[in-house]
Amino acid sequence: MTMRSSSLVVVPAREGRAFPLSAGQRIQISDVEGGQVGDVFAFVRDNPTEYHSAAHTRAHVDRLFPTLGEQFVTDRRRPILTLAEDSSPGHHDLLIPACDPARYAALGVGDSHPSCAENLHAALVPLGVSVDVVPQPINVFMYVQVNTDGTLSWLPAPTRAGDAVVFEAALDCIVVVSACPQDVVGINGGRPTPLAVELFDTAG
Ligand SMILES: [Zn+2]
Repeated sequence: MTMRSSSLVVVPAREGRAFPLSAGQRIQISDVEGGQVGDVFAFVRDNPTEYHSAAHTRAHVDRLFPTLGEQFVTDRRRPILTLAEDSSPGHHDLLIPACDPARYAALGVGDSHPSCAENLHAALVPLGVSVDVVPQPINVFMYVQVNTDGTLSWLPAPTRAGDAVVFEAALDCIVVVSACPQDVVGINGGRPTPLAVELFDTAG
C-alpha cells in the first residue's frame, strides 16, 4: 500500500504528545536513540470515556504481549488499533501500568518527578480533552519477561536507534505517546531519550 507522510513530531525525552487519527490512518513511533520505552494510550475520538484496555486486549487475543498483526480493543471490546508493522526486536509490554507520581514517591525520588500519567493529561490539554482515568498503556519497546516461577523481570529496552512500530487506527481515535521518564528502574537504561512520531494517510 502506498502511503504518504502527513507530519513528523519529536516527542522530547520525558514528555508526551497527543495525535488525533482517523480510522485507516497509521501512526509510526520510532525510537530515536535506542533503548527507550513509549507509553501508548488510545481513546475514542468522539467519546474518550471509551479507550484501549490492556486487560480486554489480552482476553481478545489470548496473549500476554503484543505481536505483529495484533488487534487492540477498547474497554467495550471494539477494535481500536492494529499493530501493522514492527522493525524492533518485538518486545512490547501489556502488563505494567503507566508510571505516576505515587510510583516515583515509592521509589524514593519524590512525587514531582515527570511521569507518563501526568504526560497523558498534559498532552490532551491542547486538544481540549480531559479524562478521568489513566488506562494501562501499550508499552512499546518495553521488555518485561515472565519467569517460570511467575515473577516478572523488567529488562532494558533492547531497541536500536531507528527501530519503529506502526499502528493502524480501526476507529477515529486520539493516540497519546509518552516518552517514558523512568530513570530509576532500568527499563530506559537510566537515560530517557526522545521518540519520533509520524502520521501516514493512505494515498488516494
Ligand atoms: Zn513511564
